[in-house]
Amino acid sequence: MVKPVDTKDLKSFGHCGHAGSNPALGKISVDQKINFILKRKKTMRDVSKASKEIRIIYGKDICNMTKKLLESYKLEEKIPSRDAKIGLKPNLVVAARPETGATTHSEILEGIIEYLQDHGFNNISIIEGAWVGDSTKRGFRVTGYDRIGEKYSVPLYDTKDDRYVTKNAEGISMEISKRVLDLDYMINLPVLKGHCQTSMTCALKNMKGCLSDRSKRAFHSLGLMRPIAALNEIVRPDLTLVDSISGDLDFEEGGNPVETGRLLLGEDPVLIDAYGAYLLGFSQDDVEYIPLAEEFGVGDADINNAKIIALNEPESSENAIPTHFAKRLREYTAPDSACSCCYANLIHALKRMEDNGMLSHIRGKKIAIGQGYKGKEMEIGVGACCAKAKHGVVKCPPSASDIMKMLEEL
Ligand code: SF4
Repeated sequence: MVKPVDTKDLKSFGHCGHAGSNPALGKISVDQKINFILKRKKTMRDVSKASKEIRIIYGKDICNMTKKLLESYKLEEKIPSRDAKIGLKPNLVVAARPETGATTHSEILEGIIEYLQDHGFNNISIIEGAWVGDSTKRGFRVTGYDRIGEKYSVPLYDTKDDRYVTKNAEGISMEISKRVLDLDYMINLPVLKGHCQTSMTCALKNMKGCLSDRSKRAFHSLGLMRPIAALNEIVRPDLTLVDSISGDLDFEEGGNPVETGRLLLGEDPVLIDAYGAYLLGFSQDDVEYIPLAEEFGVGDADINNAKIIALNEPESSENAIPTHFAKRLREYTAPDSACSCCYANLIHALKRMEDNGMLSHIRGKKIAIGQGYKGKEMEIGVGACCAKAKHGVVKCPPSASDIMKMLEEL
């Protein structure tokens, strides 16, 4: 039974808080400003077609839940043709089982593929690229995607092996997988989870897997938030189905999964992320790329505009929220353009030290990390970028256990 939920009581994220002070227009010429406005209007027109509905289903039978959502949405009527090139873009940021809270459950891919094939769509592929420092192919094996590909004759592609097309958005240059750009219909399959640098990750940030490793690194040197929002101007999925079954609400690498037993489906990735942030108890100030994406015309960040359609009721009315341990441990770090894998390993090391009662050992100290430290000297630093640190781990990326060992020996 489809039951609309009143969104009046939802905490408002409001519209973009930067009205009249668009940073993208700050340092450019009048001609560029006109181009920007024209481009923004074009993007806004595309966005205006995106439905403001967000469908939710609760339960444990992930494959059937997926199919029920697609049936309720009538996916077969939305795809332009039976020959359309359809790409499924999961989250395989690291090679870890979905039960850890890091990656997309394989049952979701299975449910979508079965649904599409039953409706006569056979040009389907799975496309993903793990973060810098991990292997996508290992991820395909660990999550069982390789067996699904074989079972349904669906090819798997690693964007790390692809050719790239250089694109520009908001003055940011980026190399994007050609295979992704060639798709006719893209289904984004992010995990709703915490993130040690951006607070949370879901639909918008999942598009990073479509970039070359070089661009992933460059995004970090540009502060991550603006590039993520800009990327979504170019690579904008047609549909997003969020795995919120058991994401780790604090950490993108997983390890502390929290059972929330739900899937969400919607067309507008900004609205999906704004709603995901609301579910995790974040404000728009906590997840900067959401209002930025709205400002760039990618979608609508005001969840008061969302029509929430719950296909069933949750077993429990309790809403799980993050412990914010990553935020707490950030006070020991001094990041400057740090890559996700590097920073996550540092937070991981600090968490293990905290669990072992060792954190007091480094109280008051700051650990340098990131590309911004290249060639600079410092007391403590981790990663090859901090090679001049007095105490450090000169690897790219350094492992959590190596970082922990170095910190314990200080
Ligand atoms: S050492 Fe530098 S380049 Fe390598 S992962 Fe860490 S921050 Fe990125």
